[in-house]
Amino acid sequence: MTNPNPGITAKIAAAADHARPTTCPRCRSPVLTAWAGRVAALRVVADPEPIDATAEILARLNGRLTWFLITSSLGVHRITWRNPTFTPHAKHPVIADHVCPPHPVQETLL
Ligand SMILES: [Zn+2]
Repeated sequence: MTNPNPGITAKIAAAADHARPTTCPRCRSPVLTAWAGRVAALRVVADPEPIDATAEILARLNGRLTWFLITSSLGVHRITWRNPTFTPHAKHPVIADHVCPPHPVQETLL
């Protein structure tokens, strides 16, 4: 079956990596979501605050992926793949995968 409107499909694919602000359903923290990549895209849920090189190293050591947050001249934010070994940190702001903060344990509140 052929797509009756290939223009819409192309527009959806072109906008898939646009960062959308939302809240985490578990902890209610503000996050950015997007589909990063054009082929075999990966669903990204990232913290919206850019991180520096030290925080990126800590994030990577904790198993979190890091991403470029690219802003176009029209103000559209996109989340794209980042390989920290090949791309300098200062090229674009870097954001990291979101991890919900730990919930307080009842015994530690007393
Ligand atoms: Zn969360």
